[in-house]
Order: sequence, then C-alpha cells, then structure tokens
Amino acid sequence: MILLANVEHLLHFHMEIIFATGNKHKLQEAQQILGPSFVLKTPSDYGITEDIPETSPTIKGNAVQKASYIWDRLHIPCFADDTGLEVDALGGAPGVYSARYAGEGKDFAENTGKLLRELNKVCACRDEKSLKGREARFRCVVALIIDGTITTFDGIAEGHITLTQTGNGGFGYDPVFRPEGFSLSFAELSAEEKNAISHRGKALRLLEEFLRDKGLR
Ligand code: IMP
Repeated sequence: MILLANVEHLLHFHMEIIFATGNKHKLQEAQQILGPSFVLKTPSDYGITEDIPETSPTIKGNAVQKASYIWDRLHIPCFADDTGLEVDALGGAPGVYSARYAGEGKDFAENTGKLLRELNKVCACRDEKSLKGREARFRCVVALIIDGTITTFDGIAEGHITLTQTGNGGFGYDPVFRPEGFSLSFAELSAEEKNAISHRGKALRLLEEFLRDKGLR
C-alpha cells in the first residue's frame, strides 16, 4: 500500500513556479485555474517583499517588467500577470492605470466608485438589462520566464459595466463587471464560474498548454 502511494506520487508531476504577485486574490485564482500539479510560490517566499515596479505604459510591458524583476534576482521559473479594465465610453480608461484610477494608494471600492461616476457622466443609458453604451473588457497579459526566455499569453473577457455594485465574491472591479452572456456580475459568480470565462483563466490555460507542449509539465 505504502509502495503504491509512492509510485502514485511519482506519477504526478509537480512544477514549482513563482507567481510574481503580492495580490492574494490573484494567487488564489491562479492556483485554482492551474490546479494541484503547479506549486505556486510568491516573491515573499524568497524574501522579496517590496512592491514590484510596474511603470510601463502598456499591460504587456508591465507583465514583462514584473516577471523580469523576479527572474533577474532569482533565476527561477516565474510568471507575472498584468490586467486592465477597458471601458469603451471612457476611451479605454482606466486600462493600464486600473490599479490607481482613483489615485495612488486608493482601494478597490474607491476605484470602482470613480469608474461608475465617470461612466455615468458620459453614458446616459440606464437600461439594466442591455447595459447598452457600457461595453467593457478585462485584458490580461501573463508573462512567463523560463531559462531567461520570455513568452506572453493574452486573455480577454468581454462584458459590460453594471449600474451599481453587486456581489461579494472576487476582487477589484468584479462587482461592476457583467461578463458577456451572463446576467450576474463576476462578483456574483462562483470562483469556478469566473475562472472558466475570465481573462486570467484564458491566459493561464494558454500558459499551461505551452508548458505541456514543451514537456515541462
Ligand atoms: P494589476 O494587474 O494588479 O495591475 O491590477 C490592475 C487593477 O485591476 C487593480 O485595481 C485590480 O484590482 C484590478 N483587477 C485585476 N484583475 C482583476 C479581476 O480579475 N477582476 C477585477 N479586477 C481586477
């Protein structure tokens, strides 16, 4: 029995990889999306506790910057995710500035509150069902670095900005984002439902496929 359990363990390949984030919500989602064959470590597991700079004008640039920061210091396989919420009626804002939309050091509620106020100024539509004129998308880029080689993966979730905040799940702008084809916000869906259709879910499943094709998992 013990022998069988050991063989079973050997058959299940585990890949240890650093997710360059300090956001525990992102970490939890990534672990759920990638599953138990990935052992996700964080920079703090290696004594890196400072905020990782993200100063690029693009989402892809920030994802690469965050992953490179960890690779340059540790030379261990790693990936980073950068995400922006693009609202058409706001000319694509907050986009790459989503994290500091309401200002440096502001929290999720302040960013979300500002988004609803700004959108309501330019969009007269208040039709809860169609949310016409409130089209938006989450755009996520995941940058992976293995042996110093950078590969990026994109994931997009299309949807609309709701009239008010609804739901307690998820994080960030989830209470005001209703994904295409659903009548609930991301924050009202279960974690499994969100991950199955989210920008992060799509990008990370491409990463997983890439590693599988390379025989790395
Ligand atoms: P960053 O990728 O950590 O720079 O995040 C940019 C901003 O988007 C932050 O305000 C996050 O809270 C928000 N954000 C990132 N991913 C998600 C998500 O999956 N749902 C809702 N908000 C998100």
